[in-house]
Amino acid sequence: KFGTAAAVEEPIKPPVEVEHTQLLIDGKFVDAISGRTFPTLDPRTGDIIAHVAEGDEEDVGLAVTAARKAFDEGPWTRMTAYERSMVLYRFADLIEKHNDEIAALETWDNGKPYEQSASAEVPMLARLMRYYAGWADKIHGLVVPADGPHHVQVLREPMGVVGQIIPWNFPLLMYAWKIGPALATGNTIVLKTAEQTPLSAIYVSNLLMEAGLPPGVLNIISGFGPTAGAALASHMEVDKIAFTGSTETGKIVVELAARSNLKPVTLELGGKSPFIVFDDADIDQAVELAHFALFFNQGQCCCAGSRTYVHERVYDEFVEKSKARAMKRVVGDPFKKGVEQGPQIDMEQFNKIMKYIRLGKESGATLLCGGERSGSKGYYIQPTVFADVQEGMPIATDEIFGPVQSIFKFRDLDEVIQRANASRFGLAAGVFTSNLDTANTISRALKAGTIWINCFDVFDAAIPFGGYKMSGQGREKGIDSLRNYLEVKSVVTHLKNPAW
Ligand code: ADP
Repeated sequence: KFGTAAAVEEPIKPPVEVEHTQLLIDGKFVDAISGRTFPTLDPRTGDIIAHVAEGDEEDVGLAVTAARKAFDEGPWTRMTAYERSMVLYRFADLIEKHNDEIAALETWDNGKPYEQSASAEVPMLARLMRYYAGWADKIHGLVVPADGPHHVQVLREPMGVVGQIIPWNFPLLMYAWKIGPALATGNTIVLKTAEQTPLSAIYVSNLLMEAGLPPGVLNIISGFGPTAGAALASHMEVDKIAFTGSTETGKIVVELAARSNLKPVTLELGGKSPFIVFDDADIDQAVELAHFALFFNQGQCCCAGSRTYVHERVYDEFVEKSKARAMKRVVGDPFKKGVEQGPQIDMEQFNKIMKYIRLGKESGATLLCGGERSGSKGYYIQPTVFADVQEGMPIATDEIFGPVQSIFKFRDLDEVIQRANASRFGLAAGVFTSNLDTANTISRALKAGTIWINCFDVFDAAIPFGGYKMSGQGREKGIDSLRNYLEVKSVVTHLKNPAW
């Protein structure tokens, strides 16, 4: 019996209206040239929330032209860095003012608990904008000593028109991770939202214009990957592309970028992150955080702790407690207070997760709880826990992107390092131990972009995030994210009189 079966109740009416459904090009809301629209669905029911303009190649073309003009002619690129930073500060204030409407739109379109949208994601969006606002007027070059009679300056310049493609699991945070560093460094942008979740980005981009962003600096295209996304990645006038999504699509984006104009690419892709619990850890805390690491956001996190490794001496206790915790997880309408888990994003993801649950059972893992759909409407899935998972099983190697925890047993440090690293991914890892030497050894040995020790999913604006191996290229957030959007120019001046 699960926490609640709110999934079968009538869905709660979201406390917000959909105001904007058009494309944002050159500072104006416009329909797609084709006149086409596509429905965006409520994951609680599968019902249509709104019909949204469907941008494709032609609309991307117009958006890139607008972004080019805004870059080449200003005023954005002629403004002082301080003026640009003030636009982002004012945007953050407007986000706070409209916190609850933005959060409601995000929950309605995505299905994540409203309490999280309102108390974490939207505030984090404002926090990220202030972080990047703070950088805008602190980006500077170097004067470097070189052999010979030369004065050498190294300048950092914006790259130009930046294309950005984002996924549906954290629509607003992915938007912030993308536009923040690109705007702080003075670029102009064409951003394509995910077809599942177009609404919140259009809404907040309107606030960004209200904050003083000039027309054409940020253009928003709603639409599909193979049409609008591919057009952006292959456009000859786009100077850089940043992508977050699946590893398969990341490969396509790299290929399109290479085949067109060799634009540089940054990628944030999939993961299969280990969460490692040693026998000297605080077990209750580790159980709770392992649960959070996997089930947070309906399990739809690229860095989900989706391989829970537990030391054999504490394995049985850990497994029992993990099962009990999962069975207490409150699944239901994400607008309902106290709900921890809403529906999955759509039918495709729902089916994919159910397939992996079936494969888990067939391959001989022990199903401790869950494994079924929750309710009869929408895309709710019971919190599911497998124990005795063996390396090589599909649930051990593939990114499931759903509420399915897989628990493995291990014996010692070297063995778990080797097993944790035996993955094509390398996004993140969690380590639970009270031994400093274990923590130090393992954090150096693991091939992953983020190692969380006795914590998980700590996302600060200043902490770089990104992947080793097939989890990505480049880093987002922190100082490293700025480098993705800056060209380096060396200016070498001959000195007539080097003695002075
Ligand atoms: P998911 O499978 O989780 O939906 P995707 O990687 O397919 O992840 O989607 C992430 C983003 O990439 C979305 O905005 C999607 O529209 C876009 N996308 C999908 N296919 C392509 C493509 N061929 N070219 C460019 N972008 C794409």
